[in-house]
This record gives sequence, structure tokens and C-alpha cells, in this order.
Amino acid sequence: MSDVFRECRERVTAQDAARRYGMRFDRRGWAVCPFHADVRPSMSFRAGRFRCWACGASGDAVDFTGRLGLEPMAAMERLNADFALSLPIRRTQTAAETQAVRRRIEIAKEHKEFEEWRGTMTAKLCAAYQTAHTALKNMEEWDKLTGPEALDIRWQSCFEYWADTLDYGSPEEQAQLDRERGAISQWTGKVLKS
Ligand SMILES: [Zn+2]
Repeated sequence: MSDVFRECRERVTAQDAARRYGMRFDRRGWAVCPFHADVRPSMSFRAGRFRCWACGASGDAVDFTGRLGLEPMAAMERLNADFALSLPIRRTQTAAETQAVRRRIEIAKEHKEFEEWRGTMTAKLCAAYQTAHTALKNMEEWDKLTGPEALDIRWQSCFEYWADTLDYGSPEEQAQLDRERGAISQWTGKVLKS
């Protein structure tokens, strides 16, 4: 069954789903986020996934459709129908698939701690990125910047890189962030406090 989810995610991007369910995009391909009271487009799309830089919502096409009010299974069925994917949703799993699912559950357990950190960290990184973005937008002259504002701006590209890697990075890149957890939390915390 999980493989059907995977195939669905591979064949339908979050942006495809967003377009299908009525969202419009600006020239950059960003959209007004439907998951919070958004005014200007805060939602970007990349590598098949979506992310709202204001409220921190993120995920793939199934997550996006689910957030419109459906359980994951129902969201996948909806995408299957709306995009004519012809996924064999109701067939029973083969032994290999069952084993693959079991292995994924084991991996998920091993990485549970990292995943929990990733969840809270992504939201914090989005907030820190926004703080830096605001500092940059309000900036008139570099020499008038207060220390904390300069710090915010200096770290902006790091926050973006970390958030991107947490969302889209390869397992190796994510493992690297896992090792750097302490430093990332520390710097993000500093900007959020400033
Ligand atoms: Zn949002």
C-alpha cells in the first residue's frame, strides 16, 4: 500500500495538486497559502513539495490534499481519481511490499528523534528566515543596522539552506544536519530571541 502512496507522490507534485484544487501562482510560482490567513503569496513549491514560509506548513501532494480536509488514504484516492493515475489502491500487498513497509517502519523508529527535531526545527527556521527577511526589508543603510539585525541578515541564507535540506535534502545531507543539530538550534534560537 505504501508503494501506491510513493507512486502517487512521484507522479503528482504538490504544485499540480494545488493548481487542480484552485490555487493560483504569481510569477515566481508562489501561491497564497490556504492553510493560514495569508495575504501575499507565502507558499513556494520545489521538488514536488510545498512549503509555507509564514505558517510552516509543508509536504507533498498527498499532504497538501489531506490538509484540505481528507485523511491520507482519502487524499491519495482523490488524487488517484482526479489525475487519472489508475493506481491499484485496493489490491493486497505482496510479501515484498509488506517487508518493505516493515523496514520503513523500523527506519522511521530509528529516526523518530530526528524527525521530531526536524518538525519543530522547520517551523523555527521558517520563523527565523522571516525575521531575517523583515530586517532586510526594513534596512535603509548598513551602518544603521543594530547588531541583532545584522546578525539576522547574515544568517538568512543559512536558515533557508537548513530548511531546504530538512525538507528536500538527500539522506546524507540530512545526516550531516543531524550531527550539527546543536549549532543549528543555537543560531536559530539567537535570531528568534533578538
Ligand atoms: Zn501558511
